[in-house]
Amino acid sequence: MEISKLAYELLEKGDISLIIGYEENNGIVSPCFIKDKEDTKRLIFNDKCFHNLSVYLTKMKERVGIIAKGCDIRSIIGLVQENQIKREDVVIIGIACPGLNLKKCSSCPDKNPKFYDYLIGEKQEEIKGDKFSEVIEIEKKNPKERWNYFKNEFSRCIRCYACRQICPLCYCETCIVDVSIPQWISKANSSSSNFLFHITRALHLAGRCVGCGECERVCPMKIPLSLLNLKIANDVLELFDYKAGEDVNLKPPLQEFKKDDYNEFIG
Ligand code: SF4
Ligand code: SF4
Ligand code: SF4
Repeated sequence: MEISKLAYELLEKGDISLIIGYEENNGIVSPCFIKDKEDTKRLIFNDKCFHNLSVYLTKMKERVGIIAKGCDIRSIIGLVQENQIKREDVVIIGIACPGLNLKKCSSCPDKNPKFYDYLIGEKQEEIKGDKFSEVIEIEKKNPKERWNYFKNEFSRCIRCYACRQICPLCYCETCIVDVSIPQWISKANSSSSNFLFHITRALHLAGRCVGCGECERVCPMKIPLSLLNLKIANDVLELFDYKAGEDVNLKPPLQEFKKDDYNEFIG
C-alpha cells in the first residue's frame, strides 16, 4: 500500500489525529504535519527524506502516525524506553529503505525495519558494514593527536545548537548550556567552552545516541560530531553488550545497575 492511501485510511477511521511525514515543494523535501485526510496526497518518500521525524514526537499531545525509516525507528524505541512517549500513542509506518546516499547508509543494519505497525516498500537487501571503522582510525592517533584533532574541530563550532535541536534524544526542557544559575558551561564561543559543550553532550547521550547522524548532517560547520558519539557507542557495546535503539523492552545500561557491571573505574 502506498503512504498516502494508508495515511488517508488511518485519519479517516480516527486511529490517529495527525501524521508526521515528508512533502516535496520545488525540489525541497521537508517534514509535514497532516491532519486533514484530503491532504495526505502531499505525502512522499524519496531519496531526499533525510530528516529523522521522531524529533517531533515529544511535542505531540495525541496519538499520531509517523513515517519512519529503520534508522529513525531506533530513536522512537529510545523515546519509549525513556518514557518520553507512550508506545500506544504512536503508529509507526516503517519504510523499507533503499538508502539515501548518506554516510550512515553504507553500514546500515536497518534497511528493513524490525519494529513498526505498518510497513511500506519492498524488502531490501541487507548489508554488512562496519560503522565503527572511522572510530578505529581516530583511535590509532596518540592522545595528543586526538586532543588536537577534536580541539581543532570544536574550535570551528559557532554554538548555533542545531545539533542539539535536531537530536530526538536531546529532549531536556532546559539544556545544561542554557542554565545560568549556576552557569555550568559558558555560552562564550571559545575553544574551551565549545569543547566542554560537546564533551558534556556526548556523555549525556552515552548509551542513548542511536547514531541517526542528524546532528552531523545539520551542522553548518561540518563538524564530525558522530565520531565522538560512535566512540562512546562502541565503548557501551564493549562494556555492556548494548546497542541503543534495538529493543524497546531493554533498559539502557546507564539507567540500571547490575552487580556484574563494568566497575574498574571505581578502583
Ligand atoms: S541509515 Fe539505513 S534506514 Fe537510514 S536512511 Fe540510510 S539506508 Fe535508510
Ligand atoms: S546521531 Fe546525533 S542526532 Fe542522532 S541520536 Fe545521536 S546525537 Fe542525537
Ligand atoms: S550544529 Fe555544529 S556549529 Fe552548531 S552547535 Fe552543533 S557543532 Fe556547533
